[in-house]
Amino acid sequence: MLKIEKLPLGPIGTNCFIVTDEGCDDCVVIDPAWDAPEILGRISSCGSHLRAIWLTHAHFDHFGAVAGILQKHPGLPVGLHRLDFPLYQAGGGGPAWGIPVNCSHEPTMWWDDIDRLQLGRFQFQVLFVPGHSPGHVAFFEPESGSLFGGDVLFQQGIGRTDLPGSDHAELLNSIRTHFLPLPEHTIVYAGHGDDTTIGAEKYANPFLV
Ligand SMILES: [Zn+2]
Ligand SMILES: [Zn+2]
Repeated sequence: MLKIEKLPLGPIGTNCFIVTDEGCDDCVVIDPAWDAPEILGRISSCGSHLRAIWLTHAHFDHFGAVAGILQKHPGLPVGLHRLDFPLYQAGGGGPAWGIPVNCSHEPTMWWDDIDRLQLGRFQFQVLFVPGHSPGHVAFFEPESGSLFGGDVLFQQGIGRTDLPGSDHAELLNSIRTHFLPLPEHTIVYAGHGDDTTIGAEKYANPFLV
């Protein structure tokens, strides 16, 4: 089974996901939003082995705990899309909100080079879904029907496109091209707020219908 634990963390309650293959207890952290001790404490209390950090995009509220995790796990792979790297280096936009973020630990895997990721026996597809940010990606695992969508699609909402580097038309195109064709029962684990499904949003999301 794929175990998915959601931790809303940080100044704007960004969802961090600890995703574990219960068959081997290997786990990854998707968007370590904030509070490395909290995240690492959850992982160690489950007896899991942390294998990588996967970032959907480089806004500060999605990677605030990267530095703290890497201090405890030097050499842990961290993935990001290269088109979001300038945003990462700029502190993910945090300084504009008066929130400095430690971005000294740079990514080591690039999603522009990788379209499949393995976690135990589960294989995730890396979907390139720009619009909210230039290099935004999502992670889709077909067997469990799980989509880690970052800030692309929310319950009854879509990602902000009033930020530097955002593009509203590109975001809608990403959703229509890569999200809506997925099976309707696919669970969307969004970067903020509650989970939803592709089917629910396809028929009732005011930005899409
Ligand atoms: Zn964002
Ligand atoms: Zn966000």
